[in-house]
Amino acid sequence: MQENRVINPATEEVVATVTASTPSDVDAAVARAARAQRSWAALAPADRARQLRRFAAAVDDHLEELALLEVAEAGHPIGNARWEAGNARDLLEYAAGGVERLNGSQIPVAGGLNVTFHEPLGVVGVIAPWNFPMPIAAWGTAPALAAGNAVLLKPADLTPLTALRLAEIGLESGLPEGLFQVLPGAGRVAGNALVEHPGVAKVVFTGSTAVGKQIMAKCADRVKRVTLELGGKNPNIVFADAHLERAAASAPGSFLDNTGQDCCARSRILVQRGVFDRFLELLEPAVKAFRVGDPADPATEMGPLISAEQLERVRGYVPDDAPVAFRGDAPAGKGFWYPATVLTPDSPDHPAAVEEIFGPVAVVLPFDDEEDAIRLANGTDYGLSGSIWTRDTGRAVRVSRGVAAGNLSVNSHSSVRYSTPFGGFGQSGLGRELGPGALTAFTETKNVFIDTEEQRSD
Ligand code: NAD
Repeated sequence: MQENRVINPATEEVVATVTASTPSDVDAAVARAARAQRSWAALAPADRARQLRRFAAAVDDHLEELALLEVAEAGHPIGNARWEAGNARDLLEYAAGGVERLNGSQIPVAGGLNVTFHEPLGVVGVIAPWNFPMPIAAWGTAPALAAGNAVLLKPADLTPLTALRLAEIGLESGLPEGLFQVLPGAGRVAGNALVEHPGVAKVVFTGSTAVGKQIMAKCADRVKRVTLELGGKNPNIVFADAHLERAAASAPGSFLDNTGQDCCARSRILVQRGVFDRFLELLEPAVKAFRVGDPADPATEMGPLISAEQLERVRGYVPDDAPVAFRGDAPAGKGFWYPATVLTPDSPDHPAAVEEIFGPVAVVLPFDDEEDAIRLANGTDYGLSGSIWTRDTGRAVRVSRGVAAGNLSVNSHSSVRYSTPFGGFGQSGLGRELGPGALTAFTETKNVFIDTEEQRSD
């Protein structure tokens, strides 16, 4: 039996020990889930919706407990962790609202009645990363359950605790046994067993592009449904006509939130040449004022990185001769701390400017005009999100249409809401989560034609 230690990244203390699932555990879980799913899908839609609302209410009752668990296992500032638990609750409520609106359609055809149904897939595997353990678990789980499926959730080995607690809360709220199970363990073992299992109809994977590609290839073997939410290297485009103070004041949060371990981090700041120096002058004090420290302190805005390995990876992008413009502070001593760091490389092809660092590091690069901004923004393999700062509405629309990314925001960095679609272009992923299509992504469309003329007697 393999035991995994969960480490608090702010203190390096062991928070818990969790037993890793084996392929035979996955096998047994799939069988239990398949049994539970049949009765769940047969429930009246109103009853399924009511049960999901009970689950949401139970999450709400345990919000602080879940947030504190996230602080302990992921080092997230408590304010962020409360938002994350609230996001899981909101998703459950939103998905519950969709159960009775999972409408098919009636399509006019000759000689009969043609209707479509959205049928559940069966058992769905959700594989989550460590950077936002609770929201991402909920993004897959809530709509899949609402559409009549069972869910097997494989959390990241570094952060399994909130996922395990969510499943317990689900059971306590009345969710049928086996319908929502959590399988902690290594990606190559438990995760891979889910991907390869013939009883799992769809895999929702959120994680690195490299692992996403492997999973997609394995799913192809069985034509298994797959949604991929992968990496990002997102531009924050600041035009000279923008409200520069606001753009600079909001930029630190957009790449330091979650210590930069955010697929939507705006870590490539592109600034129009005429205001480049002024923007850097405004950015420096804003970055240095970002409060780094004890995640349990409500005033803290940035905690540690998730692990010693992640710390090494981030350090690797900032060698001694790196083009550092300025940096913030980080606590000394125990914990995986790294300071906010801003680089001004000479070339837009610098590795720190095109690769996903997943740490509190941003590059600032100049551009000349709209065309140049769009070219630079599209100069990576990714296409997840991005921000555009301008006071010219026409320009905002033109640049939004020109940037190849799934989630953009204008004069804001806010691009993730449970009620709007989320996902990437290019190597940032495949498919969309959240939003109006969240439930149908966990269904197959069935078309039925009923001949109304066949038995006509007159
Ligand atoms: P990762 O790819 O290493 O792991 C993600 C999950 O997959 C974990 O649960 C892991 O155990 C599992 N896994 C690993 N190898 C596997 C395999 N061979 N088969 C099955 N499962 C396997 O990613 P990570 O380091 O946990 O997360 C960081 C990455 O996630 C970043 O690249 C980030 O951009 C991405 N991310 C994307 C989004 C999005 O919505 N687009 C959101 C958050 C994070």
